[in-house]
Amino acid sequence: MFDYVIVGGGSAGCVLASRLSADPSKQVALLEAGPDTPPESVSSEIYAASFLPHYFGEATYWTKLEAYLDPVGNKSVEEMMRTQTPRRYEQARIMGGGSTVNGQVAIRGLPGDYDEWEAVGAEGWNWRNCLPYFKRLERDMDFDGPMHGKSGPIPIRRCFPPDWGAFSLAFRDSLAQNGIPYYEDCHAEFGDGCFPFPRNNILTHRVSTAIGYLDSAVRLRRNLTIMPNTALRAIAFDGNRAVAVQADREGAPARIEGREIVVCAGALHSPAILMRAGIGPGEQLQALGIAVRADRPGVGANLLEHPLAGIGIHLKPEGRLAPTMRNNFTLNMRFSSGLEGCPGQDMKLSVSNRFAWSKAGAHFGTVQFGPNKSYSQGFVRLRDASPASEPIVAFNLMSDPRDLTRMMNAVRFVIGVLQTPPARDLSYAIFPGVYGEMIRNLMTQSKLNTFLTDMAATMLNMGGAPRRFVTNMVMKSNLTVDDLLRDDAKLEAWIRQGVQGDWHACGTCKMGAPDDRAAVVDPHCRVYGVEGLRVVDASVMPTIPAANTNISTIMIAEKMSDAILGRPVPAA
Ligand SMILES: Cc1cc2nc3c(=O)[nH]c(=O)nc-3n(C[C@H](O)[C@H](O)[C@H](O)COP(=O)(O)OP(=O)(O)OC[C@H]3O[C@@H](n4cnc5c(N)ncnc54)[C@H](O)[C@@H]3O)c2cc1C
Repeated sequence: MFDYVIVGGGSAGCVLASRLSADPSKQVALLEAGPDTPPESVSSEIYAASFLPHYFGEATYWTKLEAYLDPVGNKSVEEMMRTQTPRRYEQARIMGGGSTVNGQVAIRGLPGDYDEWEAVGAEGWNWRNCLPYFKRLERDMDFDGPMHGKSGPIPIRRCFPPDWGAFSLAFRDSLAQNGIPYYEDCHAEFGDGCFPFPRNNILTHRVSTAIGYLDSAVRLRRNLTIMPNTALRAIAFDGNRAVAVQADREGAPARIEGREIVVCAGALHSPAILMRAGIGPGEQLQALGIAVRADRPGVGANLLEHPLAGIGIHLKPEGRLAPTMRNNFTLNMRFSSGLEGCPGQDMKLSVSNRFAWSKAGAHFGTVQFGPNKSYSQGFVRLRDASPASEPIVAFNLMSDPRDLTRMMNAVRFVIGVLQTPPARDLSYAIFPGVYGEMIRNLMTQSKLNTFLTDMAATMLNMGGAPRRFVTNMVMKSNLTVDDLLRDDAKLEAWIRQGVQGDWHACGTCKMGAPDDRAAVVDPHCRVYGVEGLRVVDASVMPTIPAANTNISTIMIAEKMSDAILGRPVPAA
């Protein structure tokens, strides 16, 4: 019998396991469907990756998970599935979860994001109460002062302009000419501006939550049991109280009992786990033959994500990143759309000096951008009652007109900056980017891909027709940036066809007040309608923060560890 059974050893789960087991009187179990990454055997790929390790490999991802990205409109789910083609949507299946495979971008949201959480019903989750936990999680290697933590498990550091490639520096200077200033510390300044990416790594490697929070000393605790390769199949109840999980542990069935079950399976799997346990939209569950335990229409609703579009840049040799430089992501930026109904700094943009690991990838830079405070809402639904089936995931991107309008304006703005010297002078060409299946397939490091991309690099170096052949083949389109500027219909169509998510799924078990029928958990992350069950991960965010979601997820787990242990919020 454990005090806490934590299901999912991802960004949130590892934090909770570490913090709750720091109390020696509590017995804690951590279950993770994927493999472990113990300190003595973290693979060099995970440590060193500036791109995703084992990109989409069976061993580390939920490879059967797919998502529908486009607007659903009035279509039924069945009709949506008939008319849209789902795309792969990478979710980690390994200790550390998203923090083991992600881009290591470590940005907090804006103060207004958390004040908004409280305003919509998540009592106690305002900025003043969240800041102590942002500080507690981090060990800022660059900055000191009241906005920074100095002794947390996650090191945060930045790559400053002297180490940026020429193109990022030029882009910064072109931004200045378009009215966007540069500042160094995005965790202390919140206005429109560009700044160096903070990242959760130290000089040589990534620090996931598994690496930072489950170090050798924590793993020696006798009251912490870590169970990798253990997938939850069902939650067992006694009456209305969750009392155990039934799991597949290293291939054998297991029952793991706990006084509390804490689901940390991420924004796509946590709602599915709840729905299979009979907690969710009653009619939908009944239609699948699942007995309804708590009729909560919000489970799986409110799926949020940051939509992204990108402009590609074929860089001249003097604009490319030196092969010795590993950090391809350099400049990030917040800016305000000015659109009515949207807060300030609602948009984001990031610059990469090198698109991919290959020789051909080194030719290209990208500017990616989109609404950072996005409003389109999708959903997660069960396909059937089997724990082996992945849920139906529909992001419904660009369904909110504010997202589309802001994206269209952002495209015009970004093209304008890229056409301003000195950025303009470092590119052979700029073109509407497409992150299609062909590019995704070429992202995997393999002998074949090395051969193909080496050949593409040779053709790119030839210039003229061979260069055009390669770019047109990869882009699968002759669309130009001038087409986008001249023709709104083409611009909208290009956005709708090419828009991607940023892997920031959240919101599907949202936190809210007791009288909010759409809320799934209360401000202590306890699931409404049952006992002994919490959800603590990215799914509880009631609205999407204007930042990449990993650091906010870790903050949620830090704050919840205090709440679960009955400790007060420390002073900011
Ligand atoms: C490819 C990628 C790139 C990203 N890049 C960035 C970035 O650069 N910066 C940033 O801030 N954010 C980034 N994100 C987002 C960020 O990583 C996530 O928001 C964050 O990891 C969410 O944490 P979580 O704890 O909610 O879920 P996860 O970290 O996904 O953890 C969920 C865990 O639960 C496990 N699990 C699921 N179902 C079961 C089950 N039935 N039984 C047992 N275990 C189960 C999973 O295997 C997983 O390990 C990225 C995400 C991805 C996938």
